Amino acid sequence: MKTGQLNTRPNCPTCKKLLDGFTSVDHDNKPEEGDVTVCAYCNEVLQFNGDMSLKLASAEVIEECGLLTVSRAQRQAREFNDRVTLAKKIKEAMGST
Ligand SMILES: [Zn+2]
Repeated sequence: MKTGQLNTRPNCPTCKKLLDGFTSVDHDNKPEEGDVTVCAYCNEVLQFNGDMSLKLASAEVIEECGLLTVSRAQRQAREFNDRVTLAKKIKEAMGST
């Protein structure tokens, strides 16, 4: 499992946010077509298309990855989002003094 930056910035089909990072669910490489990832904003389980856009992962795909693996990725995505939110809050607090 790996979290990193994407060259492309696909939209999450669920919350419509631009995703410039990824959490690979099933391997440690850059994502490619068919790879499963988790949206850091809404925690939706997504799958990459050939053009690096995103679609909702089907139940079969999620099952194939393993529910435990997917829920672990979701937790990692949530923690990543928490860290980003916290960093933003600290920056805001420092800026306001
Ligand atoms: Zn989303």
